[in-house]
Amino acid sequence: MTETGDYRHAKCYANLHGGCATKISGEHYVSHNLIKLYTFDDPTVTILHDNGYGIPRPVKPKEFVANVLCRDHNSLLSPADDAALAFATFLRRIALSYLNGNGTWGEDETIEISGDDFQRWVLKLLATHAAASAFAAGGKRVVSPIPDDAVHLLLDKAAWPRTWGLCVAKEPGNSYLKYDPFSDIATVLTDWWSAHPFFATSDNALCGGVVELAGVGFGLSLYNQGRGLPEFDNPDNPLKGSIQRPAYMEWVLNNVRKRINFSWQDNSQIFGVTYIMD
Ligand SMILES: [Zn+2]
Repeated sequence: MTETGDYRHAKCYANLHGGCATKISGEHYVSHNLIKLYTFDDPTVTILHDNGYGIPRPVKPKEFVANVLCRDHNSLLSPADDAALAFATFLRRIALSYLNGNGTWGEDETIEISGDDFQRWVLKLLATHAAASAFAAGGKRVVSPIPDDAVHLLLDKAAWPRTWGLCVAKEPGNSYLKYDPFSDIATVLTDWWSAHPFFATSDNALCGGVVELAGVGFGLSLYNQGRGLPEFDNPDNPLKGSIQRPAYMEWVLNNVRKRINFSWQDNSQIFGVTYIMD
């Protein structure tokens, strides 16, 4: 990723280092390529936020935008959108073939996705909503500052601290992190994404959240998750029973595996997670 120039667009939340375009991009709340995937690229389809304060009434996909990133920063982040599209395309196709057990599961399949880009997509989705004050808590709109650290991570200006970042469900019993993309057809048709933020108690700053895509929940933290501390296993901790930055996620039915390998720049992660569906 490179940025050129010193210009900082006042409405671009990624403007800390300059490198802004003079135009705001019409950044979608959730990647436009994902909207097209799930609406069969039908421009007459409408979309809305079912909670929060983003877009409360149905609009056409091209109007489902937040206007909080300049054109150049939006396009710098397009590899993140591509990673999310690859993830969703894979799981959605399998779910449509499997039809919750009424269709076919098929053969072994594996795809490779950049974990760094996918992690960035989760952060971008949360940050875009926060920048547009689109989140709600207790029935009220939340004005949530985006910490500088979040922008540094988004633009790859800093390495993720080991104790921060993406995680997925490792054990059953955590209702916050879903891991079955195949048993609920709604995750293919209507409920294919959602975003639930974590806010800092002092100033409501964005400090992470849970983002669902294609029936899979991803936790993200911009703080030390506290793994190893007794509080981590508190049932109210949304990240309980999770694994950080998985090397892979795979779903196995009758010994046939559908696997997503995540590559990570620092090659640090060797462990992944296997969900047995029998
Ligand atoms: Zn910008």
